[in-house]
Amino acid sequence: MPRDPYEVLGVGRDASGQQIKKAFRGLARELHPDVNAHDPQAEEKFKEAAEAYEILSDDDRRATYDRYGHDGLRSGGYAPNFDAFGSIGDLFEAFFGGGGGSGARSGPMAGGDVAVAVEIDLLQAAEGATVEVAYEAVERCEHCHGNGAEPGTAIATCERCGGSGQLQTASRTPFGQMVRTVVCDICHGDGRVPEQPCRECRGRGRRAAQHKLDIYIPAGIANGQRIRLSGRGHVGEPGAPSGDLYVLVRVADDTRFVRDGDDLITALDVAAPLAALGGTVAVPTLDGTADVELEPGTQPGEIVTLRGEGMPSLSRARRGNLRVVVNVVIPRRLSGEQRELLEQLHATLTEENLRSDESIFAKLRRALGSQAA
Ligand SMILES: [Zn+2]
Ligand SMILES: [Zn+2]
Repeated sequence: MPRDPYEVLGVGRDASGQQIKKAFRGLARELHPDVNAHDPQAEEKFKEAAEAYEILSDDDRRATYDRYGHDGLRSGGYAPNFDAFGSIGDLFEAFFGGGGGSGARSGPMAGGDVAVAVEIDLLQAAEGATVEVAYEAVERCEHCHGNGAEPGTAIATCERCGGSGQLQTASRTPFGQMVRTVVCDICHGDGRVPEQPCRECRGRGRRAAQHKLDIYIPAGIANGQRIRLSGRGHVGEPGAPSGDLYVLVRVADDTRFVRDGDDLITALDVAAPLAALGGTVAVPTLDGTADVELEPGTQPGEIVTLRGEGMPSLSRARRGNLRVVVNVVIPRRLSGEQRELLEQLHATLTEENLRSDESIFAKLRRALGSQAA
């Protein structure tokens, strides 16, 4: 179990964003591999601090953690994945840009995010599922190892920008002369151009490729929720982190159940005589059937609640309930004999048989309200 991020950063639970940032900066400086090369634990400690910072610096994540702890974050699809950063130095750079220094250095561009959608059924949403997603993302070209030159050929300094990767343009404006710095359009900021561009990626050093990935969808996920996989998006420029992969999860409509948060609702047809007599009926559940005891005199719209037969909640604290709405079916197309029996029954009915124990408004409240037993 990971440690409490507040404890890792040494801040109180009511710490402000500024205090959290300050605490992390302090720790990061202390643990940075340039400073702390002799401590073999420094890297792990730094990762732990970075993880804590990632959680507490994001309002949504922090709120999720405060309510549900690490389990809530994990089952919500948040998984810190610092492997994408390569080395501890890159990781530090990704957080601060430029070795913990002060500044607005315009470094290599991080990779873009990729979005992909998957559809699962309700049972998969209830049990959790591993599904394969296929998507296209930019990756490093293996043929040229990302440098854009055909293997064995030279790489020359870019003539257009003289190797700086930047171009300056001066223009006259009503406010005076403006000098703008733009990325060189020939070398795209690299400062170097291959004499013979790689034939696989045409000199870009990166190329789009099909990716396949098994992803785990946690039990209890709802339609429209997204899972983020850090570092699985487009690869960044050399030295910059990759983008993230966002998986949009669609849960297909189910023919038997309607979902209401963690609860499931189903309708159960019960023939009118059985509703009057009461008895045991089988109700479909997510993974089979359950026997339900109907009281004699069960009325249309009455709700029987099966505790714990609903969806698991993402926080895994408890399962939701299955609410069974009784649909009393009045028999149609009667035979002569059935008709006779019903006529006999009808003739014997008294006020006492038809009196309701409950007003129609109480019934409506029950139907609309929460989990009537
Ligand atoms: Zn290449
Ligand atoms: Zn250039």
